[in-house]
Amino acid sequence: MNAAPPIRSVVIVGGGTAGWMAAAALARLVAADVGVTLVESDAIGTVGVGEATIPPIRTFNAMLGIDERDFLAATQGTIKLGIEFVDWNAPGHAYLHPFGELGFDIEGVRFHQIWHRLHAAGQAGPLDAYCMSAVAARLNRFLPSNNDPNSALSRLVYAYHFDAGLYARFLRSYAEARGVRRVEGRIVDTALRGTDGHVEAVVLEGGARVEGELFLDCSGFGGLLIEGALHAGYEDWTHWLPCDRAVAVPSANAGPLNPYTRATARPAGWQWRIPLQHRTGNGYVYSSAHLSDDEAAATLLANLDGEALADPRPLRFVTGRRKQAWVRNVVAIGLSSGFIEPLESTSIHLIQSGITRLLALFPDSGFGDVERDAYNALSRSQFERVRDFVIVHYHANARPEPFWRDLRAMALPDGLAERIALFRNRGRVFRHEDELFAEASWIAVLRGQGIEPAGWDPLVEALDLPRVGQMVERIGATFRRAAEAMPDHGAWLAQHAPARNLA
Ligand code: FAD
Repeated sequence: MNAAPPIRSVVIVGGGTAGWMAAAALARLVAADVGVTLVESDAIGTVGVGEATIPPIRTFNAMLGIDERDFLAATQGTIKLGIEFVDWNAPGHAYLHPFGELGFDIEGVRFHQIWHRLHAAGQAGPLDAYCMSAVAARLNRFLPSNNDPNSALSRLVYAYHFDAGLYARFLRSYAEARGVRRVEGRIVDTALRGTDGHVEAVVLEGGARVEGELFLDCSGFGGLLIEGALHAGYEDWTHWLPCDRAVAVPSANAGPLNPYTRATARPAGWQWRIPLQHRTGNGYVYSSAHLSDDEAAATLLANLDGEALADPRPLRFVTGRRKQAWVRNVVAIGLSSGFIEPLESTSIHLIQSGITRLLALFPDSGFGDVERDAYNALSRSQFERVRDFVIVHYHANARPEPFWRDLRAMALPDGLAERIALFRNRGRVFRHEDELFAEASWIAVLRGQGIEPAGWDPLVEALDLPRVGQMVERIGATFRRAAEAMPDHGAWLAQHAPARNLA
């Protein structure tokens, strides 16, 4: 059997973060004689938020051959070593979800299990004193990691904060320089082929048609093609994650530049704080069933570090996923494929993983079912695992307000209660096959939210504990020394990646 001919034209609908990330990644197809066209409308604009990321973004940038310092300078970027959660478990309590591993396993026993045993006996400090990224974050320090396994710096794992508009602009220059064609215009119609219902063209105001074989729907929440034309359907997860609105406002920087996002729990949701070089991004994510828009805006404005630099901007969303992200010849990437509220900054990562998956399963002009089905199954599992991780933050809380009490009492998705019970018993966490968040992330959040395992792995007792205790102490001391030797985060940026866009 001969394979169908290769696809010769790809049309990307939308020029937000999703559209331009896809365009940058697909630009390499231009050299293989595939036309890549992106259609966007300046009049409609982008969602304009989405400024905190997680470490795999560095792999995406590396795949594109982007220089890190150039990228940080072009996007007002800063470093992110994790997220500080303030008042989540109960008012007055804070913890860090840092990136990267905890300590080192010893004789095959997980580090956190050994730590638990030692800590219970008063022989170890707080858990995040053994995570390189956490130690550096607490001191506001940064130095790029290296690959030398003998260096503590190899354990520093980081991502970025950046200005969403500048990021899209940066990727646009990258993609256009490599042959991606941009078409400006508002799409008013979608033409479907009579024979099989595939999208044949999008029609712009004025009547111009942009034709293609494969369409990427990066049109944002509305899902112009995937929902508007192909009616894929949406699975609503609001009953698990009830926040459905946000209000965002930038403020002037105040104090040192922290290399981490802060998420502060509020009576009906939570507030983000994302430090960039030229400003701080802030927003209150809340449940409209529990709080009015005016109250949300007032709470946000009353809780800024520095002066507000614009009027508060409202946003609405429904947490959930498109039932099928790939239908016929349309693949939805970005907000059009679904949205999990931004607590763990996963949306841009889901764009990245959608693009990576599409490249790995790139169809030919025959559009067989197997690639599509594999893509949809993988998308579903990725979204569900991220959803469960975010739910844990809400479910395990000791806050007094009705919003939080309701969340404590909610029925959990299948399998999540068992995962929590397994941890509660002897601190065990297993990463599902393709799951984004690793063991250390689950441990940080479960413990941070107040779930303390009753015991530890019995294998710990087989270790020579006094010797192991010394090893653990050395790990903590090594990480501390390494962090103390790093420059201040703001000073490092000022020297190596000062912003060049001050607009
Ligand atoms: P959009 O930015 O909405 O872009 C859609 C594009 O489609 C635009 O170019 C628009 O012009 C075009 N378009 C739409 N309709 C038409 C039409 N008819 N004709 C022509 N063009 C059209 N993600 C993170 O990873 N980290 C975060 O910290 C984070 N925080 C967030 C906070 C909030 C409150 C929200 C709502 C989202 C957050 N996100 C975050 C998600 C992040 O903003 C998005 O994943 C990201 O911006 C991608 O958006 P998009 O490109 O899919 O859609």
